[in-house]
Amino acid sequence: PLAEYEHLRRRIRTNTMEMWNFFSNEFGKLRSKLVGDKPELAEQIKNVLELGVEHKRSLINDQDRLRKVDGYEGWRHAESKDLSDLVQKRFNTMQNPKDCDSARKLVCKVSKGCGYGCQLHHLVYCMIVAYSTERTLVLKSKGWRYHRGGWEEIFQTVSDTCTDYDAVHAKMWPGSPDTLVVNLPIIDSLQPRPSFLPLAIPADIAPRLKRLHGDPIVWWVGQFFKFLLRPQHDTQEMLNNGLEKLGWKKPIVGVHVRRTDKIGTEASLHELREYMSHVEDYFRTLEASSNGTTVKVPRRVFLASDDFKVIEQARKQYPDYEILGDPEVAKTAGVSTRYTDGSLNGIIFDIHALSLCDFLVCTFSSQVCRVSYEIMQAMYPDASERFKSLDDIYYYGGQNPHNRRVVIEHKGKNANELTLKPGDLVGIAGNHWDGWSKGKCKRTGENGLFPLFKTIDDVTVVDLPTYSNS
Ligand code: GDP
Repeated sequence: PLAEYEHLRRRIRTNTMEMWNFFSNEFGKLRSKLVGDKPELAEQIKNVLELGVEHKRSLINDQDRLRKVDGYEGWRHAESKDLSDLVQKRFNTMQNPKDCDSARKLVCKVSKGCGYGCQLHHLVYCMIVAYSTERTLVLKSKGWRYHRGGWEEIFQTVSDTCTDYDAVHAKMWPGSPDTLVVNLPIIDSLQPRPSFLPLAIPADIAPRLKRLHGDPIVWWVGQFFKFLLRPQHDTQEMLNNGLEKLGWKKPIVGVHVRRTDKIGTEASLHELREYMSHVEDYFRTLEASSNGTTVKVPRRVFLASDDFKVIEQARKQYPDYEILGDPEVAKTAGVSTRYTDGSLNGIIFDIHALSLCDFLVCTFSSQVCRVSYEIMQAMYPDASERFKSLDDIYYYGGQNPHNRRVVIEHKGKNANELTLKPGDLVGIAGNHWDGWSKGKCKRTGENGLFPLFKTIDDVTVVDLPTYSNS
């Protein structure tokens, strides 16, 4: 019953947002059609939308307050700590075998030909494979393009006792169960592709995770970051000093604006005002208290970007906002081919600060944005709702198919819409954030739009080692 209660509570919240996305977009379209010929009708619709958004904020605010008083908040915190402790203990066991010489190992080269966020995802993928095949992860990081001295000078070693391996007899993935040392290629060229790749979660903790968290895979990925990104002393100092210099204070919304080389190739341009409208909505939702006690919440944003001009623009255009962020750091964002030592501190800091925010507004097409969201999961029992992506839904590069299961019948009204029966699986490709998502119905093979609220996430669960003698 608790699992069902939690599931329903989260579903109501997500679908409140979906409903508002739907109505605001449909009415918005109507309004633009009427503005020329029927200005008074267009004006009426504008008024409906203005009150409508207040409705939405009030509903979301009440739901968030309900969560705090429903009697389960203590359990959520305890359960989340318990699960994290369990998983971190397993990581420690797999990384520190009693006899290193005879321990089976998985070798992962840190350098991948891409940016920092992308390389972090590469490392998590390596560690997921190591965990799933009960191998000790060994990192090869000397000459790392972000820091020649290697990963271990920036973050703590992934093992205290077992970092050497017999490179001469190493075999390429998959090897066999008794192969002592296996070299792992990047996820893009992994053959065969195992079932435990994201978005899968381990079966033995799946019921607990699904009960606790709105998007279990993001929690799972976040746990790997919690282990991998334990900073070395100097890195910790750098992070602390950076926060102090900025004048870090909560509440704060994190905004990441990815520009430069990404635009037109992997993402489209979103104007600053689009990000900021969601930031303002977040603060107004906080203020939409129904008990009349809420005072005005100070508007504070941490803004990170690879384009320093965005930070200067924000300060000019939003004088009522305190904009934390450093254009000089943005200038070090060596994108494309220039990922170097100089840019490393900047991106480590920006991701760290983004993950410490109460809420994130960014584009999930950027790995910087997704990494920040994943790391954030380790700081709350369930931070799955603490984001607004202006483009993609959450995904993990190289993931296995992401399916939704239909729970409410849908009869498509035109050729663009899918017709769905309860029980159908839909491979989801994206959310247009207007009430409609895009996907492919596995039963009919058709591609098209469907209302997200008629489906639930179909979480992939796989049997994995349980490290039970640890
Ligand atoms: P993606 O290209 O946005 O998906 O993410 P990647 O992390 O793979 O590559 C982008 C790279 O650009 C980052 O790793 C950084 O080096 C740089 N970059 C992008 N956005 C920022 C930012 O907000 N701050 C800083 N310091 N660097 C950034």
